[in-house]
Amino acid sequence: MAERTGPVRAQHRAGEVAVQTAYAAFIDHIQKCPPCRTDGADCDTAAELKQVYRDAKEAAVAA
Ligand SMILES: [Zn+2]
Repeated sequence: MAERTGPVRAQHRAGEVAVQTAYAAFIDHIQKCPPCRTDGADCDTAAELKQVYRDAKEAAVAA
């Protein structure tokens, strides 16, 4: 069973991994940051992580 893995497909997959990683980092922060966790506040770090996630998502869609 050979799976076709061209450069495009590989890049798309890399993009998905980047999105997952960025999302995991954001969730991980939320769980460890009291203001974010209890108040649902987006502190500077959370905002930054969210932006990284958005960028990764855009890059993944564009790929
Ligand atoms: Zn936070």
